[in-house]
This record gives sequence, structure tokens and C-alpha cells, in this order.
Amino acid sequence: MAHKFTFYNTLARRVEEFVPREEGRVSMYTCGPTVYHYAHIGNIRTYIMQDVLIKALGFAGYDVKRVMNITDVGHLSSDADTGEDKMVEGAKREHKTVMEIAKYYTDAFFADFDAVGNKRPDIIEPATNCIPEFIHMVDTLLKKDFAYVAGGNVYFDTSKLKDYYVFSSEVEKEALQVGVRDDVEEDPNKRNKTDFVLWFTKSKFEDQALKWDSPWGVGYPGWHIECSCIAMKHLGEYIDIHCGGVDNIFPHHTNEIAQSESYLGHEWCRYWFHSNHLNDKSGKMSKSKGAVLTVSVLKEKGYDPLVYRFFCLQSHYRKPLEFSYEALDQAVAAYGKLVKKVAELKEDGPVDEAVKKDFEGRFADAVCGDLNTSMAITVLIDVLKAETNGATKLALIRSFDRVLSLDLEGHAKSLSEGTSVDPEMESYILDAIERRANAKKNKDFATADAIRAELLEKGVEIKDTREGVKWQLI
Ligand code: AMP
Ligand code: ZN
Repeated sequence: MAHKFTFYNTLARRVEEFVPREEGRVSMYTCGPTVYHYAHIGNIRTYIMQDVLIKALGFAGYDVKRVMNITDVGHLSSDADTGEDKMVEGAKREHKTVMEIAKYYTDAFFADFDAVGNKRPDIIEPATNCIPEFIHMVDTLLKKDFAYVAGGNVYFDTSKLKDYYVFSSEVEKEALQVGVRDDVEEDPNKRNKTDFVLWFTKSKFEDQALKWDSPWGVGYPGWHIECSCIAMKHLGEYIDIHCGGVDNIFPHHTNEIAQSESYLGHEWCRYWFHSNHLNDKSGKMSKSKGAVLTVSVLKEKGYDPLVYRFFCLQSHYRKPLEFSYEALDQAVAAYGKLVKKVAELKEDGPVDEAVKKDFEGRFADAVCGDLNTSMAITVLIDVLKAETNGATKLALIRSFDRVLSLDLEGHAKSLSEGTSVDPEMESYILDAIERRANAKKNKDFATADAIRAELLEKGVEIKDTREGVKWQLI
């Protein structure tokens, strides 16, 4: 029996108990990145919270299968089918082909995704792999009279639905209708303002790089269709949980539901998990704003990616989170303290199973209760303070790390190894670091690099951090 699990279901507009369709199993779909630029640390916050969700479900006893798409075609700069094609925009900016851009930014995305301790989805599918599936769904929607062709494009007809704004309360619906009416760029082909493109053949992009033949002419898919098709391709007609950031609720997820349920003729997904945004002082972080702050950039500045994860876990997924270096530095200090405490623990006897069970229960209540990650960290701190032996504490830290993925134990090991070299070796390392600093000061980078290589050969890795040069044995 799985532990009781609750989270905020946007479709129900409240925290609900999660009950999957099949006992013990969860099928989950995650909207993946649009790979025209680096994923910023805000995007990565969303993927961290989703990672905690799947791992918490695992902790609760569920077997989770998760699918994610990679948007490499069709996403325009406005989510409402207007503006430039994001991939073409990226290719122009960097004088590369769209596929080169997609490959480069997909790799960069996963480097950061992995670095923050995320488990990769079981299936990852680029949109450009699924053109026949998209065409089949569009064709079926036309046959079922949920879609129409106008001006060469295929549109979904939202007037055919009883309730298009499925996520919204009556008040929000009115606000949305006003918002949609005020959309400045109008497409004269649309019968209703909320209709959206399923397949483009006539677009304003003469230079659209990726095009495929279709019954409606040579063109490319709309953005929303890819998630519906990729989810169905791998998870069948029903999914349990669909995830994304709050900006995905409208129009993306609203449109996904419209087309999927019209195609299937029944309810598609019962639980919708949305995490809130990371903002900086100037507002929501956005890829299109220019300079993109990534996990890799944080790493270059000397911040451990897992400290960024820790920073995210300290706040609740439903609240906006403001990023600042001051706040991140506080997380560095708090994380460092935890690592130090863990480094002091010893495998000093048998695990006290009763104490372990008690703390595991508290931890499960936190993570399975609307993903209360800050409470989970409090439980971890309580473990470190508890009146029990080191072996029990280490067993609990390992157990919690199945969800938190903070690798406190790994960091604690390198901390103790880093200081456990003999004094002669230590003075050699410190001397080499000083020689390297002098070389750098004199702009003699060749010597500086040679010293780094010399240390590496002796099994010592050095890192330049904001707090100075750090070293560890590898
Ligand atoms: P994109 O690559 O722009 O399609 O976004 C990838 C994911 O990041 C989506 O699930 C978005 O909802 C989410 N996202 C976008 N901006 C932010 C932000 N500032 N903070 C957190 N998540 C975001
Ligand atoms: Zn999606």
C-alpha cells in the first residue's frame, strides 16, 4: 500500500489526494524545454520540483513512468501562435542550422538537468520524431469536426467545446476572455479568438527551416499538438499526472486538453501539477530576455549545482521564488553546515530501526503532503540533532536522499578525504596553489595550467570558487 499522497491539482483548484488509475503505478508527462536557448535556472527550478515529485511518489511506494518531449519545432515567441518561430530565431542569432541549435541546446539542457541531481525521464522524445503521429491526430480532429482549414492552416475550433477554460474559475474565465480579445496580433483565419493552430502551411516565415509534407500541404505542426501526441504515443489514452510551470496552464495545457479529449472522446488526465516561477529582482526570469543565467554559469562562479537544488527545496513549489546571490550564499552556508555535520557521523553500531521508522514516517508525511520540501529539510536537521547513533542517522540521510538528492554524504566524504592527507602532501598542495596564483597574477597562464595538470596527476583537483581556491582528492 502506497503512503497517502496529496498535491495541488490545478484542474480541481485545490489540494487533492492522488489516486492513480492503476494501483501502485503512475504515468506522468512533463512538458520539456524549447531548445532554442539555454535553460535558465528558473526552468531548472521547474524540473527540480518535478524531480522531487517523482521521487516522493517513489518514496510513497509508487512505480512512476515519465515521458518528456523536447520542443524542437513549432513554438512561436508568443504561446498564442503569434511572433517568430523560436527555433528559427535561435538559428539566425547564431548563424547555425535549426538542427544544430536543437542538438547544442538539448545537450546543454541535460548537462544542467543532471548536475542538479535530477533523474532523467524514462522516455525523452523530440517533437521532430513524431510528425506522422501529429498528422494523424490533426486528421482525426478534422474528421470529427473539431478542426477546420482556413488560409492554408489547420485550426482547432474551440467553439465546439462545452468548457474550453477548464482550469479557470468563472471570474478567471472573464479575465481570460478580455485578455484574449485584447491580443493585438489577430489572425483573420481564426473563427474564434481562442482557436489555435494545429498545422501551419501558410505562415509568415518564408524561411521556416523544418517542413514536412501533409494532407494540407507542406508545413509544420503547432506547438500544443506535440505534447498530446507524444504523451499518447508512450503512455496510451490516459495519463495520471501532467506537469509544467504555471505559465503552461494557459494557453498550452488548456489547448492540450481541448485537442486530446476531443480526439479521444473521454477524459485524458486527471491531475495537473504546476510549479511556480523563479523571479529575479526585475521580474520573471525568461529565456527571451537576453543574458541567461544557467546552472553552468553558477558552477563557473563556484556554486555547487546541488546547492542550487537545496536553495529550491527550501521553498514551496507553489510559491514564486526570488533569486538573489545573497539568498544563494545563505543556502551555501546552510548546506555547508549540513555537510559538516554529516562528515562527523560514524557507522558506530546497529541501526535503531524504531527511530528510523519514526523519522521516515515524518519525512514521508512532509514530502507526500503537497510536497512540503522545507519541512522535509527540517526533518533532516532534526535527525542530525537527534539522540541516536551515527549509523541510524546515516541510514536516514541515505533514505531521505532518495527524494532530496542533495548528496550530503558524498560531499561529507570529500570533505573528510580533502583534509585527511598527510601534512607533507598538504603543504605541497598549498604551495602549488600559491605558485599557480602567482603565475595567474603575472598572466602566465601556461604555467598556471601546468601546475593544475601537475596536481591532477597526483590525484588532486582544484576549483576556483568565490571563496578562493578549493582542492579535493579524486
Ligand atoms: P520552455 O523551455 O520555455 O518551454 O520552458 C521549460 C519549462 O520551464 C516550462 O515548464 C515552463 O513552464 C518553465 N518555466 C518558464 N519560465 C520559468 C521561470 N521563470 N521559473 C520557473 N519555471 C519556468
Ligand atoms: Zn507541453
